[in-house]
Amino acid sequence: MTIDFHVHIETKSNGIKYSAEEIVAAMDQADIDISVLLGNDQADAGTKPAWVSSSIMAVAVNCSDEEIYEYCSKYPNRFVGFTSVHPDRYKPELKVERAIKEYGMKGIKLYPHSGFYPNDYRLYGVYQKCIESDVPVMIHTGIKAVQWQSIKYNNPIFIDDVAVRFPELKIVMCHGGYPWVEEFMTVVHTNPNTWVDLSFLDYIEKMYCKPGLVETTLKRLIKLVGIERIVWGSEGPFLDLPLFGKHGVEYYKKSQDILVNNHDFISENDKNKILGGNAAKILKLNDSIQE
Ligand SMILES: [Zn+2]
Repeated sequence: MTIDFHVHIETKSNGIKYSAEEIVAAMDQADIDISVLLGNDQADAGTKPAWVSSSIMAVAVNCSDEEIYEYCSKYPNRFVGFTSVHPDRYKPELKVERAIKEYGMKGIKLYPHSGFYPNDYRLYGVYQKCIESDVPVMIHTGIKAVQWQSIKYNNPIFIDDVAVRFPELKIVMCHGGYPWVEEFMTVVHTNPNTWVDLSFLDYIEKMYCKPGLVETTLKRLIKLVGIERIVWGSEGPFLDLPLFGKHGVEYYKKSQDILVNNHDFISENDKNKILGGNAAKILKLNDSIQE
């Protein structure tokens, strides 16, 4: 079973979204069984300020629970929905409760670069709700995607506070933490309730001229946290890459190859775990998994 653990349905520059049908067609071609569709709540920081004329991000990035639910209800066996919260919102834990109970969502995603540290006390109720419902929280780490936001919030060191204060919380840390790779490694190594999502590491390697970054990171992660706590994700159409249409399969393949398949120090069985087996366990899809 192949599971893409990191898919945004919004696109970066033109605001046009791929339909649920288009995403499923691309998944079919690339043999992807399930995609995790991530909500996106960055509060006010999720909209481009009117006075910013040029930006790598031209439109709003917020994506509501209702939109995610619409996609998931069309293909309940192919999509898993995650909500997203921001501590500036009134009682964010209530949003999580509704997303889980009414929309059947299976996790939450946080975007600290929109203006908060993950250990913000206003999120304690959210983390408690995740524990009660046994759903994971995914937290972006490292580089920022939006020009007008602050990268300082993405330092993975602040996740240590959360992992320690909420030892029963399942935390998936995204993207390997670059440039705070040491902090990232230390936090995942010392907290058994953390997992690693490899998405975007291939782009960081290219963008920041760090050849070998993916390989070094993978080797260290396997040694420090073990195969079972690593998952693969593609980012979906968010990067404006030709994910769908005739290049879709190529892109999915490239992402899987660079991040997982090209590394001969990982056994076939372990590659399958990273590409889906581990995600199925986090999402509690174990009954249907064939390892
Ligand atoms: Zn992402």
